[in-house]
Amino acid sequence: MSRIAKALLVVFLAVASQNTAAQAPQALPLPDERYKADILLVVAHPDDEGAATPYLARALDEHKRVAVVFGTRGSSGANEAGAEQAAALGAVREIEARNALTTLGINNVWFLGGKDTASQNVLLSLANWDHGESLEQLVRLVRLTRPEVILTFLPGTFIGEDHGDHQASGVLATEAFDLAGDPASFPEQVAGPTKRLEPFLENLRPWQPKKIYYFPDADREDIFRGKGPDYSVKEISKSSKQAYWRMALDSFRSHQTQAKSLLDKVAQMDEAQIEKMATSDSFWTETLHFVLGKSLLGGSVTGDVFEGIAPGAIPFARPEVSPEPSRPELSVDLSGPYSFYAEFRRAHGLTNLPHPEPPEIALQGHTTLVIPLWVRNRTGKTQEISLAASLPAGWTARSGTGKFTVAAKQVAAARIEVLLPAVPENETKKPEPQEISVHADSNGQTIGEIKLRVELRKRALPQ
Ligand SMILES: [Zn+2]
Repeated sequence: MSRIAKALLVVFLAVASQNTAAQAPQALPLPDERYKADILLVVAHPDDEGAATPYLARALDEHKRVAVVFGTRGSSGANEAGAEQAAALGAVREIEARNALTTLGINNVWFLGGKDTASQNVLLSLANWDHGESLEQLVRLVRLTRPEVILTFLPGTFIGEDHGDHQASGVLATEAFDLAGDPASFPEQVAGPTKRLEPFLENLRPWQPKKIYYFPDADREDIFRGKGPDYSVKEISKSSKQAYWRMALDSFRSHQTQAKSLLDKVAQMDEAQIEKMATSDSFWTETLHFVLGKSLLGGSVTGDVFEGIAPGAIPFARPEVSPEPSRPELSVDLSGPYSFYAEFRRAHGLTNLPHPEPPEIALQGHTTLVIPLWVRNRTGKTQEISLAASLPAGWTARSGTGKFTVAAKQVAAARIEVLLPAVPENETKKPEPQEISVHADSNGQTIGEIKLRVELRKRALPQ
């Protein structure tokens, strides 16, 4: 090296080390605080947020930040405000939902892109929503919004509207609650960027929400009482000086395509009449009841939603899976949503979640009730089984009863179809659920006795 080159190198090194010493440390980018939520509400359709708006108004009073995720844009159903239908109606309803939430002061709102599914079967909704894609998106939104608490529909089946889409939002929210904190789930979301303009890796962080609460889509809520906190809708908001039901109703006014005729009627009522309607059974009732799904902080079941919650991340908590129930070598049990929910509660540590026993459903008269069954044969040879149904007078088993064989070491699907009697249009009696049962035997031994309570109605969503 020449003397000049050596001298230049010395100067260069001196300048370089001076630069490093003088340079202030650069802050690495942080998560965007504008999207941090205290509560993430996960529901199915535009207007479903109404199930929680009286509570959200209260939470906003307490300076909680709220974000909302809808499963679908609500593109099916009648349009009471205009001519638009199908996807165009969905585009309108997205804006109605955003406006309803903006009225309360909630702007962080997302839609998963699921499609409306007119049925009570959660499995149809999950299939129609591209379950995997919807879950990936919801896990992303949990990691983006980092909620302390998730609030959603109760995943279960019962007599009520029991919309499969409502249940699907509760299923996805529960799955996301258990996955978003796991760095091994959707790892591309939580990987740091590999280049400046990173197109694939999202640089989110795993986030474990602390509690999940449910609200049931059931007619009778007795089994859910005392399973979580209650909030009066009649209390007066500190910020607006109005009752929470009134703030919720003002928010609901945006849903013109779903409720224009009702809202027009409300416009003709005086304040006392409106309050009576808004706090009646067909609206919010006087009290919102939540069901505690799980809390990773302990605390009381009926305590406030935010009881025990302190700011900051908590470690990922892998759900405790309860063991599979033991079954005899040859057995028959309900399948479809019924067995799914038993597995779901087991997989997500929700074994205390209330559910009706025997299972129940409300169906429209003169339609077909399908009783889906698993026939399990763990023995080493083909077995013959027979299925019989005990039904009320006027109900007819159309197919699925009689003798069947199931091969060795197989689980086979069977189903019994029952034609239900019509419910007269002029029927005024409140419908009473009827208990039906399916009896399964093999070689003269009972291998299954399945009960189901079925309520017949003039109108109900398809099974
Ligand atoms: Zn809905």
